[in-house]
Amino acid sequence: MDQSVTRQVFLGFSEVEKGIFYAMAFFATAAFMWGVWLKVRKYLKGRPDPRFSKLVARLLSGVGRSYANTSVGKRHKGIGVTHALIMWGFTALFIGTAILTVDTDIVPLVGEQWAFFHGAFYRWYSVTLDVMGVGFLAGLAVMAVRRGVVRPAALRYARVDVPEGETRRGGFVMGDWIFLGLLFAIGVTGYLLEGLRISGTGFPAFERSSSPVGWRLAGLFAGFGLDGASGLRAHQTMWWTHAAMALGFVAYLPYSKAVHVVADMANLVFKDPQVGRRLPEPTVHVEGHMGTRGLADFTWKQLLDFDACTKCGRCHQVCPARVGGAPLSPRDLILDLRQHADAGLAFLAPGHETKPGLVYGLATESVPREVVGADTLWACTTCLACVEICPVGIEHVPTIVGMRRNLVDEGVLDPNLQTALMNLGKKGNSFGKSARQRPKWAKELPFEIKDARKEEVEYLWFVGDFASFDEGVQETTRRVAHVFHEAGLDFGILYDGERSAGNDVRRVGEEGLFEMLAEHNVEQLQSAKFGKIVTTDPHSLNTLRNEYPAYGATYEVVHYTELLVELFRSGRLQVKTPALRQVTYHDPCYLARYNRVTEAPRELIGLLGATLVEMPRHGLNSFCCGAGGGRIWMDDSGLKERPSENRIREAVDLGRVTDFVVACPKDLAMFTAAVKATGHEAVLQVRDVVELVLEATGIRIEAEAEEAVEAGVEA
Ligand code: SF4
Ligand code: SF4
Repeated sequence: MDQSVTRQVFLGFSEVEKGIFYAMAFFATAAFMWGVWLKVRKYLKGRPDPRFSKLVARLLSGVGRSYANTSVGKRHKGIGVTHALIMWGFTALFIGTAILTVDTDIVPLVGEQWAFFHGAFYRWYSVTLDVMGVGFLAGLAVMAVRRGVVRPAALRYARVDVPEGETRRGGFVMGDWIFLGLLFAIGVTGYLLEGLRISGTGFPAFERSSSPVGWRLAGLFAGFGLDGASGLRAHQTMWWTHAAMALGFVAYLPYSKAVHVVADMANLVFKDPQVGRRLPEPTVHVEGHMGTRGLADFTWKQLLDFDACTKCGRCHQVCPARVGGAPLSPRDLILDLRQHADAGLAFLAPGHETKPGLVYGLATESVPREVVGADTLWACTTCLACVEICPVGIEHVPTIVGMRRNLVDEGVLDPNLQTALMNLGKKGNSFGKSARQRPKWAKELPFEIKDARKEEVEYLWFVGDFASFDEGVQETTRRVAHVFHEAGLDFGILYDGERSAGNDVRRVGEEGLFEMLAEHNVEQLQSAKFGKIVTTDPHSLNTLRNEYPAYGATYEVVHYTELLVELFRSGRLQVKTPALRQVTYHDPCYLARYNRVTEAPRELIGLLGATLVEMPRHGLNSFCCGAGGGRIWMDDSGLKERPSENRIREAVDLGRVTDFVVACPKDLAMFTAAVKATGHEAVLQVRDVVELVLEATGIRIEAEAEEAVEAGVEA
C-alpha cells in the first residue's frame, strides 16, 4: 500500500506544541467526564424503574429509530431529513476523529506495522468525511435559517403560565445558538484546515479525489496568492482554532443542549412502548406520602426525560390545554422540572431560565408549587398528544399523573372533581346515581338485554358511566342496543353489577379508588360467562384492555366500531340506503392515540356510503375534546377557548361537511355543547356513528318502540 497517500496530523508541530495539545485534550476530557458523572449521579438517585428487559431489542430499536430519524421526521419530513444530515455527519466526523486518534496515539504503542491510515484506507476515509461534512454543514445551515429567519411558533419560548416580563429565557436562545454555531464553526474550520494543508504541502495529486472540498478550497487560496509557506503558517493557526473549538465542544457537551446527542438516544432505547396506556404503580414514599412530591420520587427514566428535551416545542403546539389558554405547556413542565432537578449546576449551564420560584440553587426535596403549580397539573386532559409527538420519547403523562397523585393525597383539587370522586367512591359512578339506576336506559327498549351474570353471551357490553347515565347520551346507547339486536348479536350487560371502569379516576391520580372500582368490576366480569367485551366508551376500553390484566382480568376488548365493521362484513348488517352525506370524523384520544383504532371507524363510515372529509388534525394527530383525564369533572369556565370549541371551528372551516361524527359517549356530550356554544347548530350536526348505521340499514327504532309499548312489553 502506498505509504505516501496519507496526511500528517501534527504537520510542522514541535514536541512542546504536541504536549500543549494533549494537555488541552486531557482537560476537555476531564470536564466531559465530570459532567457525565453529574448526570449519572443524578440518575442513580432516581427511583428504580425496570426497563432492562429485552435490552438488545431495545437497543436496536432505539438506536435504529434515532439514526433513521423516524421520530424526528414524524409529521415533519423536511426536519427529519435535515436532522438526519446533521446526525449522520456528526457521527461520521466523530468516528473519523476516533480513527485518527487510534492511528496517531495507539498504533505507535503497539507497533508501526499496524499503521493503516494510508493508501486506499486513507482515500475512502477522507472522501467519506468530505462528503458527510457537506451534508452536516447544509443541515446546520437549514436549522439556523429555520431558527433565525423562519422562526416557527414551536421555537418561540413564550410561557403560558407566567406574564411576559416575569421570566427571562434569553439563556435558552443563547444556548441554542452556541450549540448550532459551535458545530458549524467546527465543520467550516475543518474544511479550511484541509484546504490549507493541501496548499501548504504542494497539492498532492491524490487529494484531488480524496479531499474534493479541501482541494477546491486550496485552489481558491492559491488564487488569492497564498503560497506553500504561508499556507503552512495559516494551517498552524487554523489547526489550533479548530482543535480549541472541537475540544471546547467535548467539554461543553454534558452541560448544554448538546447533551441531547446522547440523552435522546438513551431515552428512545428505554421508552415504554405502553406509555400512558397502563400507568405505573404509585410511589409510596418512605415518609408516607403518595405520588410524586419531590426529586427523590422521580424514577431515573423521568430524570433522563428531563435532560432529553430539545425544546423543539412540538408538544407545546399540540397540547389542547395550552391551546385553550390553560397554564400548561408540556414543554415547559419538562424544562421546569429539569431546571429544578439540576439545581446546583448553574455555574456550568448558561442555558437556564430565570423565573420566580425557579432559580438554580434553590432545589429542595419537594417540587415547590412555584415550579409546577397545581393548576398546571390539573389542566392536563391526558390526551397523550405530547407523548405521541415528542421525537425523543419523553413520557409526560405518567409524570403528570404521578404528581397529581400527590395533589390528591394532599387534598389540592377542584371542588367539582372532589364531588365526582366522592360519588364514584359511594355509588360507583360520577353521576351520584344508585347502582340500580344504571340499566334504566334499557327499560325503554322493546326487547330485553341478557344479564351476562346469569346467561352466557358471546359479547359482554361494558356500557360505561356516560352511556348509562347521561340523559343526552342514553338515546344513542339505546340505538346501539337496537343495532346489536337487529344484527342478531348474542350480547348481554352486567346491569347493576357494573361500576365505572375507573380509567379517568386513575388519571386523576386517585389510585385507591381506581383499585376499588377495578377490583369490583373484575369480580363481576369473572362471575359472567362471555367471549369478548365490547364497549362504546374508549376510556373504558383503554383501562379494560390495558390495565385490568394486572388485576387478573385479561379479555379481548373491542370498540363497537370494530364490531360493527365485522357485522357488516359478515352480512349480519346490510346497507339498504347509503347515507349519502359529507361527514368529518373525530378520533377519540383513548381510541386512536392510546389504542391505535383509527381504521375501523373510517371503514364503517365508508361502508355506510358517507363521504369522509378529514380535518387537518386526525388519526393519531387528533385534537382532544377536553374531557379526558378527569377534566370533564372540573370547572373549565376560565379557559379562553374550550378545546371542543376549537375542534368544532376546525370542522366548520372545512366548509363542506354537514355532520361531525363521533364514536365516544363523552365526545357526543362535549361536542353537542360546543356546537351550541359556538353558534354552529345550523351548519353542523354532531352525530354518533350509530345514527348513520341506523339511517343506512333502515333499522327503525321509533316504530318498534311504539309497537312494543302497545304490546305492553316492558323490559
Ligand atoms: S397529555 Fe395532552 S393535555 Fe396533557 S400535557 Fe400532554 S398534550 Fe397537554
Ligand atoms: S418534550 Fe419532547 S416534544 Fe416537547 S419540547 Fe421537549 S423534545 Fe420537544
